Formats: sequence, structure tokens, C-alpha cells
Amino acid sequence: MKWILSPLLFAASIFLMVSGFVSFSKAKNNKIASPLRRVLFLSGTALAFLGAAYVAKDELPAYCLYSAYFCLIDATLISLVVFARRYTGHHTRTGGKIRYFCFAALVDCVMMAADPITHWVYSLSPYYDKFGTYFFRIESRNIMYWYHLVLAYLLTAAAMATLGKKIVRSPKIYKMKYACLLAAISMILLTHALCVRFSALVDVSVVLYPFAGFVLLYFTILYIPRGLMERLLFFTIANMKDGIICLDVDGKPVHSNRNAQVFCSSENDPKAMEIQIERWFRENITTGANNQSWSLTRRVDDTNRYYDIEYKTIFDAQYKYLGCFFIIHDKTEEYEGISEEKYRANHDLLTGLYNKERFNEAAGTEILGNTDERYYIICTDVKNFKIVNDVFGTDTGDRVLKRLAEIFDDFCNDNYIYGRLTGDRFALCVKKDSFDERALLEAISQITNFTGSNSFKIYVHVGVYEVKDPYLKVSVMCDRANLAIKTIKDSYSNIIAYYDSKLRESYLNEQKVISLFEDALANREFCFYVQPQTQVNGRVEGGEALVRWIHPSQGMITPGSFVPVFEQAGLISRLDRYIWELACSQLRKWDQEGYRQNYLSVNISQKDFYVLDIYDIFTTLVKKYQIDPKNLHLEITETAIMNNPQSQLPLIDKLRQFGFLVEIDDFGSGYSSLNTLKDFNADVLKIDMGFLETKAENEAKSKTILRSIISLAKALDMEVITEGVETQEQVRFLTDFGCDIFQGYYFAKPMPVEDFEKKYLSL
Ligand code: C2E
Ligand code: CA
Ligand code: CA
Repeated sequence: MKWILSPLLFAASIFLMVSGFVSFSKAKNNKIASPLRRVLFLSGTALAFLGAAYVAKDELPAYCLYSAYFCLIDATLISLVVFARRYTGHHTRTGGKIRYFCFAALVDCVMMAADPITHWVYSLSPYYDKFGTYFFRIESRNIMYWYHLVLAYLLTAAAMATLGKKIVRSPKIYKMKYACLLAAISMILLTHALCVRFSALVDVSVVLYPFAGFVLLYFTILYIPRGLMERLLFFTIANMKDGIICLDVDGKPVHSNRNAQVFCSSENDPKAMEIQIERWFRENITTGANNQSWSLTRRVDDTNRYYDIEYKTIFDAQYKYLGCFFIIHDKTEEYEGISEEKYRANHDLLTGLYNKERFNEAAGTEILGNTDERYYIICTDVKNFKIVNDVFGTDTGDRVLKRLAEIFDDFCNDNYIYGRLTGDRFALCVKKDSFDERALLEAISQITNFTGSNSFKIYVHVGVYEVKDPYLKVSVMCDRANLAIKTIKDSYSNIIAYYDSKLRESYLNEQKVISLFEDALANREFCFYVQPQTQVNGRVEGGEALVRWIHPSQGMITPGSFVPVFEQAGLISRLDRYIWELACSQLRKWDQEGYRQNYLSVNISQKDFYVLDIYDIFTTLVKKYQIDPKNLHLEITETAIMNNPQSQLPLIDKLRQFGFLVEIDDFGSGYSSLNTLKDFNADVLKIDMGFLETKAENEAKSKTILRSIISLAKALDMEVITEGVETQEQVRFLTDFGCDIFQGYYFAKPMPVEDFEKKYLSL
């Protein structure tokens, strides 16, 4: 008998070992592979020991082999529980319980090891068969044997419970995977229980181990549920964003997803898909082609939808045609994303008009495409837009720009290309014949009362450039139109200007003046002339320092032709500092020569206040040249003060406290009212020469104003200087009005410092 039993057990053992190796090669990185392998190897070893126990000749080796077998069975069952938990996805919570099982198994193993002496677990006795051979079999089962049995059953039950739970919870298609395993284990358990119940000669259940091992291996690693792939593919296709249509060898649609059906409108009419496919084969697919793709656009609910269609054929391993499929990619969102990006690149986001780049491109193409036509490039500029932003807020500024864009949208027909260049500047391009100047100005005038304020109207200036050279860059054409605007920049009545070549000349001239500045300053080409300021009796105590440019080839240049240019170009403050320094050094010289009563007035440009620390510069100069600050008169224009009174008025106070004399220059020429006089704490009021240049019919009025200003200034404790005095008559009435000092050609023109010294100081 043992010669049948043992080989059978060895064979089973080998089978389980081999299964262990197979699992190793088939599922190296699988997370359940290692517990599976452990179950297979441990059970295989257990059977080998049992096989050996049957062939043992003596009792002691038989005892040892049996005990080893029982211990290995404990280990196998613990591994089975671990495996079952991993296999069913419960492994995260295994830790605690397994530890108790391991401890119980350890106790069991100790008992088994001691059993040859104690016999607490079982005792062996030789069994002789009818052929006279014997083997040792378990004769009596003692108290600890039941302990072992309960432990083994508990472990098995734990594994079975895990599998059972999983079967209940799994989708139908997966139930098989777990059910077969449960069945195999149950069979072993049942057989074992019967063997114990009927005290069988040997434990027959071990014969079922290889079968269970095979089930374990197969369902864990090799088995794929039938129809699973089909179902997975079905769901994948159903949930794809693209539409899919699969055709069989005859070109009949055998499978499609909902997106494809919606595309073909075939949800209710199966024929619709076939018709669509037929059309594609007719119109888009070249006969014999295996891959092909094309795009199409469709109008759905008043919007465009964009599709890419892909066609592909399928062959088997022998390159026999199996069928084909279509993929319908809906590209609408992607396309819209791209066109949105394109829109952003070409449009001004505030107004929705073309941006500068797009305008330049479109206008350039238009002009170059029709070189025999005459075109206008028209630019617009909102006068004092900065004030709109400062006074009414940038939101109002933005609304002004949007409203202007609307006005252009309404005004411009198909003949116009238009856009917003930057800030408050818009540009239009139109054929000369199609341009209606009056209509444009009328359209623009709609913005005048936008702020709702009676005192602040919005004026838009228009510059027009007639394209003479179509090959010129559009940006240069716009520069020219803007140049025309510059000529009317201060005007409220004249709001449109045409560019002509003289403008360009003066522009080029300005550029030239700017380019000469650095060298002129370095070569000391700038100096100042002095124009005396005179009392009515002809007495002179000082004069105004007026800059002159002594150009090496052009001779003396008066400031009218370069001061505004330098102001625009941001160079004036450097020139002013230079002149102030010259003036101070001149005062120092007079001081040293004994003319310490004589003063000089210097001009401070409005721009200086933005870039220079006026107080610091003048106090430093006075200290450097050790001059009396009261001999340095500072001429600040009324406009410079009133543009920023909050910071200017305290500055004037500080300068006066230091000892400088401050003169309000060009009073009456700017945008101030007499009311503002109350805020000025200046020493001298210089009345603008404009009052004396008035036409005969306004003379009476001018005089009235002059008289009022002078008496007001006197009442406010200010000295009055009148500029531009050219006649005796003017001196007479100004003296009557109370004017103290006169500056004008009647007394003297501006003159070189040496002349001034000779004429007035040496007296
Ligand atoms: P402003 O400060 O009003 O200077 C007075 C101008 O009136 C001077 O012209 C002077 O020559 C002129 N003028 C004086 N009396 C009469 C007269 O009876 N009749 C007429 N028709 N004109 C008279 P100028 O020297 O050409 O200076 C022009 C402007 O240049 C000055 O006007 C001032 O605004 C500016 N300027 C002169 N020097 C400087 C300077 O160093 N720095 C700055 N920033 N500006 C300066
Ligand atoms: Ca002045
Ligand atoms: Ca002046």
C-alpha cells in the first residue's frame, strides 16, 4: 500500500512545485504571485514529507516526518489566508488577525516537535497490509491533535469566508474566478472531515491538493473571464469622446457608439449610418486605401462644428481583410480654442477693434494691393485724455474708449479698415474718394458730452495723411498723421489737420535739434542773455536770464525754436540746470565785483518739476556760489503751478522761506482764474505779454483786466512786472494802474551779459 501512496504523494508534490515555478515565470511582478507561490511550495513540501513518512522504516523518523508535515500544513493554510485576502483585495487589513493565527500555529508546531516524546498530539503504530509491508499510521488522536485540527479548520474557514464575501460582491462576470477556488478548498475540507469522522486508514484529502493547486494557479494567473474583453471594449468604445463605427468584411456596420450614431443621425433610423458610410466611400476614400483621414465642417444649431474623420482597415495575422472602422473626432473645442487665440492676437481686448499689429497688416495689404488707388491714413487722439483718467477715473477712461470704438464701428462701412493703436489713439484706412470728412467729424462729436460735465468736454483731434508712397510702412504713415495732430494739439476749435511735407520738414528739423543737444551742451554752446527789468524812471536792478544757443555755423538761435523741442524730448531739465549754474556763477562774479544789489531771474520749465528736486538744487547752488538767495528770482509759470497745486504751493513756500524770490510767470496766459490768485504766495506776478498784444477793438477790455489784475496783486502784497512793454503809451497806463517794473523792448531787448554789465552796472 505504501508503494502506491508514497509515489502518488511525491508526484503530487512535484506537480505543486512545478506549479509554483510556473506562477513565478508567468506573474513575476503580480502582487498576488508571491503568496500564491508560497501556498504551492509549502503544500508541495508538506506532501513530500507525508510521502516520506509513509516509507519511513522506524518509528522516530516517521514521527519527525509526520510532525513536519503537520507544521507545513499550518504554514500552508496561513499562506492560503494571506493569499485569499490579497487575491480578493482585502490584504490591507490582514495584519492583526494573521498574527494570532501565527502564534497559535507556533504553539502547534512546538507540540508537534515534542510529540515523539510526549504523544500529546497523536501516536503512531505500524500498519501491515495484506502484502506484509507496513507503514506508520496515526493510531490515536490526542487532545492536542484536536487543537491542530481546529486551528487548521479555522484557517481554512477564514480563507473560504474571504472568498465567499468576494463572490457575493463581485460582478457576475468575475464570480467564477473566486467560486472555483472556494469549491476546490471546500472539497478538500469535506474529504478531510469525512476521513476524520470515519477514522479512515489514511487522509485521502491530500490527493486533492494538486487539483486545488491547479485551480489556484489557473484562476489566479491564466484565466480571463469569457466575454470580459468584449465587454471592456464595448464600454470603452461607448464612453469614448470620439465616434466609432466598425464595419465587417462586407462593409456593414456591426458596431458603433452613441457619438457615432448622433453624428450620423442614426439613433432612430439605422439606414442613416449606412448612407453616411456609403457617401464617405464614394467621396473621401480612394479605392484600395488602408488609411485615410479628412476634415469636415457642419452647421449644428446655428454654430459651426468641426470634425476630423479617420478611416482604417483591419487585417488578420495572415493579412486577410477582416473589416474596417471609422473614428469621428469632434475638433470643435480645439478649433474654437485656436480661433479664440487668433482673435486675441489680432484684436484689442478692451474695444474689440483690430489691434495695432493687425491694423498695420490689414491696411498694408489693402494699400499695396491697390497701388494705383489713393488712400488716407487717419489717426485720432483724445485731447487731454490723461485728465479724463485723472479726474473721472480710469473706468470712465475705458468707457470713453469703448464708446469711441462703437462710434467708429457705426461710422465705418466696408470701405474702412480701422483699429485702436494704443491708449486713446485710433486709426482708419480708407480710399481717398470714399472719405467723408464732415461725416467723420460729426460722428466723433458724439463723444463730446460723454462725461456729463458741463465744464469738461471731450475733443478728439484727427490727423490725416494722404498716402503718397504705398511702400512706406503703415506705422510710419500713422506717425505722419499723428504729426499733423501735433499742430492742432492745443486747439479746441480746429480738430482736424492734414499732413503736408512742411510738417515733416519741421519734424526732421526737431529731430536734428535733439541730436545736436549733447554736443552743444558739452561744447558750451548755450549761454544766456539778460533782458533788463526796469522801473518807470529807467532804473535797472536786474533782469531775466534768457537762454541763447550760439551755434558754430548758424549763429545765435533764440529759445523759441529749441526750448519746446527739448521740453518734448525730456532734455530741458539738463539745459535749465546748466543755465541756472551759469546764472549763479554770474551773480557770484557781480557779488565779488561789488554789485551785490543786482539780481537775475531764471526760468523753470514745467517739466523740471517732474524730474528734478528743485529745492535741493537751488539751495545747493546758493551755498556753492555763496550768493544771496534774494538775488536769484525763480520764474515759475502759472500753468506749472496750477497743473499740480498740491505739491507746487508748498514748494513755493519752502523756496521763499529760504530766501528766494518767486515770480509767477506768464500770468493770464494759462487755464487759471483770478480766484486761484488767493492760493499763490509768490513775491512777484509777471503779467503775460498777451494782454498788450491785443487787437484794437479788445484794447479797452484788456486794459480793464490788466487794471484789475494789478490792483488785485497789490492788494495781495505782490510786486507786478509787465512783460512785452513796447510803447511809451503802455508804460503810461501801466504806471497808472500801479505796475512797478517793466520788461520789454521799449526799455531794452535781451542782450549779452557783458553788454548788460557795461550798460547798467558800471553806472
Ligand atoms: P518768457 O519767459 O516769457 O520770456 C520772455 C520772452 O519775451 C523772451 O523771449 C523775450 O525776448 C521776449 N520779450 C521781452 N520783451 C519783449 C517785447 O517787448 N516784445 C516782444 N515781442 N517780446 C519780448 P525769448 O528770449 O525768445 O524766450 C522765449 C521763451 O523761452 C521764454 O519766454 C521762456 O519761456 C523760454 N526760455 C528762455 N530761456 C529759458 C531757459 O533758460 N529755460 C527755460 N526752460 N525756458 C527758457
Ligand atoms: Ca520767463
Ligand atoms: Ca514770461
